[in-house]
Amino acid sequence: MTRITIAKGDGIGPEIMDATLSILNAAGAALVYDEIEVGEKVYLSGNTSGIASASWDTIRQNKVFLKAPITTPQGGGYKSLNVTTRKFLGLYSNVRPCLALSPYVATKHPAMDVVIIRENEEDLYAGIEHQQTDEVVQCLKLISRPGCEKIIRYAFEYARAFGRKKVTCFTKDNIMKQSDGLFHKVFDEIAVEYPEIENEHWIIDIGAAKLADTPEAFDVIVTLNLYGDVLSDVAAQIAGSVGMAGSANIGESCAMFEAIHGSAPRRAGQDMANPSGLLQGAIMMLQHIGQNNVAEKIQNAWLKTIEDGIHTYDIYVEGVSTQKVGTKAFAAAIIERLGQVPSVLKPVSYGASKPMQLPKYQRPAPKTKMLHGVDLFVHWSGTNADELAEKVRVLGDGNVGLSMITNRGIKVWPEGFSETFCTDHWRCRFKPLDGKPIEKIKVIQLLQQAHVLEIDVIKTENLYHFDGEPAFSLGQGQ
Ligand code: NAD
Repeated sequence: MTRITIAKGDGIGPEIMDATLSILNAAGAALVYDEIEVGEKVYLSGNTSGIASASWDTIRQNKVFLKAPITTPQGGGYKSLNVTTRKFLGLYSNVRPCLALSPYVATKHPAMDVVIIRENEEDLYAGIEHQQTDEVVQCLKLISRPGCEKIIRYAFEYARAFGRKKVTCFTKDNIMKQSDGLFHKVFDEIAVEYPEIENEHWIIDIGAAKLADTPEAFDVIVTLNLYGDVLSDVAAQIAGSVGMAGSANIGESCAMFEAIHGSAPRRAGQDMANPSGLLQGAIMMLQHIGQNNVAEKIQNAWLKTIEDGIHTYDIYVEGVSTQKVGTKAFAAAIIERLGQVPSVLKPVSYGASKPMQLPKYQRPAPKTKMLHGVDLFVHWSGTNADELAEKVRVLGDGNVGLSMITNRGIKVWPEGFSETFCTDHWRCRFKPLDGKPIEKIKVIQLLQQAHVLEIDVIKTENLYHFDGEPAFSLGQGQ
């Protein structure tokens, strides 16, 4: 018996959870449930996180959490419980299988069978944002080596465990050479450890276009948080319906399973909703805890039910479907078919899948880090970069001097273009004149000089070489 935590959530949540649990129980899943309350009621009781602290204890103790969708009240500073849960519990991997069930569920891509594995904790979702000048706000995109290693290794291990043939990496490293570049580099490093699995990299823009047009060209896709968030909804939708897809959020010790759709409040309490998304989450959960035979039995019965044309309203199509059913009757039809396999759709076989082996991240030996300059970001409301250069080039000394000014990344001094539009947010790059490393005190001296001259420095970024390699981007046009 495995003890898991469940939350019935809001809107259609309780109905689809009850349907899912009835199927799990009828299929003989060895589960014991601890139910907790999350979502709207908890938010509206004045708890802005949507969950009580005692409920965290239950989740952390049981380590496996099956969660129905919740309603996040609009406004009022309520925090998204999903984002909080993923980050608190270190659920670094988000897995969304997107499978077409043609001709029973309408899709333009009948051969589609893609799993999107999305990094779940970092990237722009670190949520570190600041307004820096009147005109410019900043959101920090943080990409870490452990973050990349964990998710990319997870993708290859997933492919190995589930007999998948290829892992494709999507990044935008032609533009973001440091951040997306790290993700791509780690992908190349880890891919060689899995010679039996094909690997490839696509630039995200053309990769996304190809995915929308020819999804059957892909198998497992691994990508960064924001790209994965957008693409996994697209993929689920073009496979047939977002209402049919489940998702797993996996960490080193805990895991959360859910449907990808929301609480559909307009459909609540009418016995109409399709429980398939949450059921798909539950099937991934059974595989996660090693109850593969039960997972397989339920998946095959679900496929058989879809194939028999027994459909809820959201996928019902006259001429294809045979019976329009509600939530309860749909669950009952699956229960009736436990032990059967589909005859047109491909039956699944999970018996052979091995538990995934994920080594703990090993921090490599630190590199030699040398300071080779600093970017001073300046709030200045003039428009002529030459004028700003005159003001700031007096900063520094015989060792460090102004080498470049950019505005929103594009070089505007020296030799800028008069056509370039400039905001009030300027980056002034100071570098050692002899190309040798400098002491950190130089940065403080530059800041002191700027303060005296009333130059409004809003932040600094140090320019480092790691093991002798420059580890910062050049100005665009430099
Ligand atoms: P939604 O996914 O709830 O609904 C979108 C559309 O899909 C609606 O037309 C709905 O009727 C339909 N739909 C969704 N699930 C269905 C199902 N199982 N069966 C049949 N039809 C289904 O998205 P929304 O309307 O943007 O959001 C509603 C609420 O859900 C919001 O409060 C939002 O914050 C929340 N939400 C929660 C989660 C989560 O808990 N994981 C995810 C997304 C949205």
